[in-house]
Formats: sequence, structure tokens, C-alpha cells
Amino acid sequence: MTTPVTKKRVAIIGAGFTGLAAGYRLAQKGHEVVIFEKSSDIGGLAGGFTIEGAPLEKAYHHLFKTDTSILSIAKELEAPLEWFESKVGMAVKNNRNSFDLFPFNGAKDLLFYKPLPFLDRVRAGAVLFFLQKFKNWRTLANKTAKEWMTMWSGKQVMSKIWGPLLQGKFAEYSSKVSMAWLWARIHIRANSRKSIFEKELLAYPKGGFLSIAITLAEKIATLVGKPTEDVVRKSSTISTIEYEGKEIWVTSQKGKEQFDALLSTIPYQAFQSLLAKPSEANMPNIEYLGAVVLAFSSEQSLSRYYWHNIIDQDSPFLVFLQHTNLVPSEWYNNQHVYYIGVYVPQSHRYLNKSTSKEEIQTEWFNYLEKIFPAFDRTKIHEQQLFTFSHAQHVVDTNYESKIPPYKTDFPNTYTANFAQIFPEDRGTNYAIREGEKIAAEIDTDLLQ
Ligand SMILES: Cc1cc2nc3c(=O)[nH]c(=O)nc-3n(C[C@H](O)[C@H](O)[C@H](O)COP(=O)(O)OP(=O)(O)OC[C@H]3O[C@@H](n4cnc5c(N)ncnc54)[C@H](O)[C@@H]3O)c2cc1C
Repeated sequence: MTTPVTKKRVAIIGAGFTGLAAGYRLAQKGHEVVIFEKSSDIGGLAGGFTIEGAPLEKAYHHLFKTDTSILSIAKELEAPLEWFESKVGMAVKNNRNSFDLFPFNGAKDLLFYKPLPFLDRVRAGAVLFFLQKFKNWRTLANKTAKEWMTMWSGKQVMSKIWGPLLQGKFAEYSSKVSMAWLWARIHIRANSRKSIFEKELLAYPKGGFLSIAITLAEKIATLVGKPTEDVVRKSSTISTIEYEGKEIWVTSQKGKEQFDALLSTIPYQAFQSLLAKPSEANMPNIEYLGAVVLAFSSEQSLSRYYWHNIIDQDSPFLVFLQHTNLVPSEWYNNQHVYYIGVYVPQSHRYLNKSTSKEEIQTEWFNYLEKIFPAFDRTKIHEQQLFTFSHAQHVVDTNYESKIPPYKTDFPNTYTANFAQIFPEDRGTNYAIREGEKIAAEIDTDLLQ
């Protein structure tokens, strides 16, 4: 590691994986990093809580083999990751108002996926094979996933596979989503195994994703040479960011401090609102969906699959996961751990305080009973519902042109947030990748 001629002070807004990765690399370069985190805990969207005495993410998380940036930093940090076989199922509503479960792990399962006529299964497989090999994603960027998939895979495939998945992830924005985004999801995932006939493996950190975040925070503090709570400041709100010539002044509960560089990892509009002169900032207008996730533990095992896509337009949620069909239930006191999750627009009643957590839980459990008639809510041990206001950016056509460069018009001020990730789906891997890239850019600029 090189030590800079003069040690510079860098303020980072947000202790999610982007902020922590950037902070770690900058601290390794000898800079004095301070991370301001609004929440009472670190980890951002990949942050955690405790269930059955064990750490778990508030929102379901796993890693693919192609997630090379986070896999490599985890190795560097000696954070133990374990690999497990992924078991994906499709819960498809039938004519009897109940559900059939189909395995959906690869080419073989697609060929036997009964909700589609045989020729449509072959057609869906051919399109998937094409997208796995195809690399020129920019030619797909200005087409919507809906129009492209309907044209090449057909209406049936759209209604029995892609339509419900896009609808669940993007709600009312689903028909605007760029085909480049769907290409990336399919392409990267298909290439995370050697052949479509090979089993898919997913990684999960022992101790949860929060353990990686905590290790990063501690390493940053050690490199800076100060206590962790002074370097990665939880429950720390910034009231203003001001500029005096090239000087950056940040005011928080700790008073007014000067920094040589500033990195924001939070949504553009949230960053803009912290500026003393917000009108001087030229920030893109990105639309976000929120997410609502229910995690619960139960004595009951409901399924043999880990991940369940719900193929029903009336479903109140997008996915149902039996987390302990990926990782061992021994980690959670031999209980079965589940997630139910959905992405919703900002105006959705689930994000409105007038809708109680109990209402959402009841609605979801009533629906879960239709998929798994044996589901018995009296067997539930622990449950917690989490809401995230900015969980997913809306990646419409030509999205790439909306993404600004890291460097803003303000002196030594940068933005790197997950809305800059395209065409890949945002994830902890890309948070680490972008955090490392921006740290290198800031370091280079500071040395000039
Ligand atoms: C339902 C769901 C499922 C997911 N599944 C996966 C998965 O399986 N695998 C995977 O790799 N990724 C997954 N992700 C995505 C992953 O969690 C994110 O891409 C990643 O954590 C983003 O990190 P970030 O640091 O860029 O942003 P964030 O995690 O959003 O971090 C930003 C931080 O800034 C803080 N902040 C906001 N405003 C302020 C302010 N004014 N002052 C100070 N701090 C502020 C926030 O509290 C937060 O801690 C999932 C996300 C969701 C919602």
C-alpha cells in the first residue's frame, strides 16, 4: 500500500457496501476516512437483524459465482463463505384456484415445465440460450423487456415466466424496463455455471452479510487509527454540506468539520437535499421502488425449494423463500427460516404508515396458505417485517444516458450509488466493485 504525501480527509455518506468498500480502499491508501451513517446500524440494504439467535439479512441475500468483486474482498478479509445448491421452484396458479409447484433450475426443468405448451418451452429455451451467448447488450438497451421477450419468446412464455417476474420486481413500471437489464440477469446467471445442465451453486457468508460489513468497518477504523464508532459513525445525520472555495464543510451532530473530498453513496435526491445550495446541483431524476420483506421462523418445513417465483398476477408478493433450504437450519436453532418479499411503488399502501404490519402479514399469510395449504401460522416462532423506501431503481429504456459520472460539479465531490449500476441488477457485488473503483478515482484526484 502506498502512503500519500499528505494524508487527506475523506467524508463518505452511507455505510452500505459501496461506502464501506470505498472507505476500506481509501483507508488502505492512507486517507483519513469518516463514514456518516444515518441508520443505527451499518450494511444498508444488506444489513441484518437476529432471528433464532443468529444473524440474518433483513432482505434475502445470496451470491453467485460471477460475483467476483465481493468474493475476492471476502477472501481478502478472511470472511468465511459457504456454497450451497440452489433449488428454484415456480408456484403457478392453476384453474382450481390453488397452486402447482414446478422445479425451475435449468434447461431440463424448462423442458418439463407443464404450464407452457411443449413448443413454447423449446422456444423459451432457445431464447435463453441465445441470451446466454449474446454479448452486445447495448443493442437491447432501447427496447423494453416486454416487447423484446414477447416478440422472441412469444405471449405464452411472457405470461408464464417473464411477465409475472417483471411485474413483481417493477410493479407499474414493468412495461418500461429495458431489455438490457433482463439480458444482464439472464446472461450473468446462466454464465454462473459451466453448462445449463449443471447445478447452480449460491454462496452465503457464515455469520451473514452483516459480518462482512462489520469486518470492513473495523478494518477501516484500524487503518485510520481511531475507534470504530468515530470512523464509522452510526445514527449520524448530516444537516448541511457547504463549500467555501475548494473546502468542503460537513455539519453533523459532531459539529462542523472540514474534508478534502466527499463521496455520497445515497440516492441523488437525498444527497441534493443535504447541500446548503441544492439548486446548484445537477442531479438526475431516478425513480425508485420500495421493498417490503417479511422474515419469519417456524417449526414447519413447507417446501423442498429455496426460491419460489409466484406466477399469479394477483399475488400480493413476488417471492417466497425457504432460506433454510439453502443454508442449514442448524444455524437457526433447527428452525425453518422464511422470507416473503415484494417491490412496490412509492405510493403503495404497504409503504404508507396507515397500513399496519399486522395487516400486511395477515394478507400474505392468507395467500401463502393457498400455495401451501398445510401452512400453519401457529407454528411461527419469530417474525419481523421490514420496509425499504429506496430498494430498486427503475431501469427504463436508454437508462445508461441518465447515469452521471462519479465526479460532480462540486469540488472533490463524488457520487457512487446503486442507481449507477446498469445493465446489471444492483447487488452487493456491484456495490463493492463501484466502491473500489470510486476509491481509486478519488485517491488519484487527491494526489494531484
Ligand atoms: C429485497 C432485496 C433483495 C436483495 N438481494 C440481494 C442478493 O441476493 N444479493 C446481493 O448481492 N444483493 C442483493 N440486494 C441488493 C443489495 O442489498 C444492494 O445492492 C447493496 O446492499 C447496495 O449497497 P449500497 O451501499 O450501494 O446502498 P445501500 O445499501 O442503500 O447503502 C446506503 C446507506 O446510506 C445510508 N443513508 C441514506 N441516507 C443517508 C444520509 N442522509 N446520511 C447518512 N447515511 C444515509 C443508508 O442508511 C444506507 O446504510 C437486495 C436488495 C433488496 C432490497
